[in-house]
Amino acid sequence: MESIGGIISGPDVVDAARELPKSTKHIQNLLRFSIERDVVLQPNPKKKGGYRSINWKRPTNIEALLMHVTGVEPEVECNYCNKNQGPFMNCIVSRDNTGNGACAACHYNSGSNRCSFFLGEQS
Ligand SMILES: [Zn+2]
Ligand SMILES: [Zn+2]
Repeated sequence: MESIGGIISGPDVVDAARELPKSTKHIQNLLRFSIERDVVLQPNPKKKGGYRSINWKRPTNIEALLMHVTGVEPEVECNYCNKNQGPFMNCIVSRDNTGNGACAACHYNSGSNRCSFFLGEQS
């Protein structure tokens, strides 16, 4: 799926999550929440006029996209998003325990532990 002008619509993320052959418990949980926003990707620093590309094959990344689409905006951005290093423009945290405190951008590519909101590994 290609982003148009760096935007992936919330419903497109939900469709991708529903169609994923190998779902996860987190994806099933996140699908219960309503869609709050679209995903706006950060510009690609290596490609002028381009945007970060999304690897749709990793279930963790679908989780991250769903967290972003359904989650809530924290009062301040995490340290990682604050430096514009995340794949997404905004810092959004999940309504459930997906990412264990980490924001969606940090959860992407299983990077939860780089997030300043991360509460530690889940047991
Ligand atoms: Zn963040
Ligand atoms: Zn973060």
